[in-house]
Formats: sequence, C-alpha cells, structure tokens
Amino acid sequence: MVNTLAWGELTNEFTAKGVTLIAVSKTRPVSDIKELYSLGQRDFGENYVQELTEKHTQLQSDIRWHFIGHLQSNKVKYIAPFIHLIHTVDGFKLLTEINKQAFNAGRTIDVLLQFYIAAEETKFGLDEKEIIVLLDHYEAQKQELKNVRICGLMGMATNTENKQQVHAEFSRLYNFFVFLKDTSFFGKPYFSKCSMGMSADYPIALEEGSTMVRIGSLLFGERK
Ligand SMILES: *Cc1c(COP(=O)(O)O)cnc(C)c1O
Repeated sequence: MVNTLAWGELTNEFTAKGVTLIAVSKTRPVSDIKELYSLGQRDFGENYVQELTEKHTQLQSDIRWHFIGHLQSNKVKYIAPFIHLIHTVDGFKLLTEINKQAFNAGRTIDVLLQFYIAAEETKFGLDEKEIIVLLDHYEAQKQELKNVRICGLMGMATNTENKQQVHAEFSRLYNFFVFLKDTSFFGKPYFSKCSMGMSADYPIALEEGSTMVRIGSLLFGERK
C-alpha cells in the first residue's frame, strides 16, 4: 500500500526547498514502486544488492537507484553498471573497488562518504578524522581514481525522541559537509549533497540543511 497523499505533500514541500526525495523501497514489492513511478517519482533507495539488482531488471531504466545500505566490496560489481549514487562509502578499499568496477562498466560513479554521527554502535560510518585520512589517500591516488566522484556526505541520527540530540547530530554532519566544501572540495560544484533525514526525523534534517531525504515508512507504511 502506497500513501500517495503523503507522497504528494512531501514532493511539494521538497520541490519548493530544492531537496531531493528518495523513496526507500527496500522490502517493498515492485508494484509499490510502479505506483509511485506513475505519479512521477524517479529516485528510489535500496539497501540490499540482490534485491536491488532484481528490481532494477524489472523496472524502467530512467529510475535513479540510490544504494543506502552497508555495501561489501565483493558486491559492487553487481550494481556498478547502473547505480546512480552510493550513499554509504565507509572506507578507502570500498572506494577503490567502486572505481575499478565503474571503470569496467565504462562509467563514473557518484558516491557519498558515510559520516558516523549517531550514539549507536550498530551504525556504520567514519568520523571527521577518518574522513580526512580517507581524503588524503584519495588525493594521493587521484590519477588512478578517475571513475569515482565524491559528491558529499550521508549520515543517520540516533533513533531517539530527544530532538535536541538529533539537531546536534545533523548539525555536526552539515557543518562538516560545509567545511569540506570550502576546503578539500573548494571549486568543485559536484560536492553538493548532504543526505540526511528519514521518516521519523526529516523535519529536523531539513532545518539543519539536508539536500537529500530518504523516506520509507511514511510512503509505504511500516516495514514488517
Ligand atoms: C531504511 C532506511 C531509510 C528509511 O527509513 P524510514 O524510517 O522507513 O523512512 C533511510 N535511510 C536508510 C539508510 C535506511 O536504511
């Protein structure tokens, strides 16, 4: 079941603000994706490689597929030919593998670095120092890494009722994004994406400067 009313409201709000709405369709049937597609939705997010590749073959080729789950290096090759944006790069090895598979597929793949902002041990990602170190490695090997393009940061806040904490976490992410934009990525207009916010916390993410919001349950109902 798709909540088309919620989709319309979110689309109006996000369009007015210049924010991208990613419909997170993990675990949802292809029929649900088709329903949103028929309304005009083109950006969809998935967490699992096999589920994504199956859906990709069954659906229209102008869908922009976003990978938002934890990505293992040995699975990059399956999504490299078509993925629009990988939000979850959390290490240099993964970055080099994406570059290699993008080269094999004859394309450049856009990625975001996953920034660890939550006070929860279950979430993947890098902190400020680790991102700086990764960018140093990237800078040193830039000539060999021409098929991958770092376009911004992604993060997930702690799953908590404490709004102040969520504000602080998104603010930390956004401020670091702006810092990188003004330093390592100065003069690189493609470094423009700050992916933050889900169904429960997207209003706070928007207040803190999000440019891409990933919404699942508000559009498709609660996951089982
Ligand atoms: C599942 C998921 C979402 C969507 O979560 P909802 O609470 O259903 O909106 C967003 N981002 C990531 C990384 C996810 O894994």
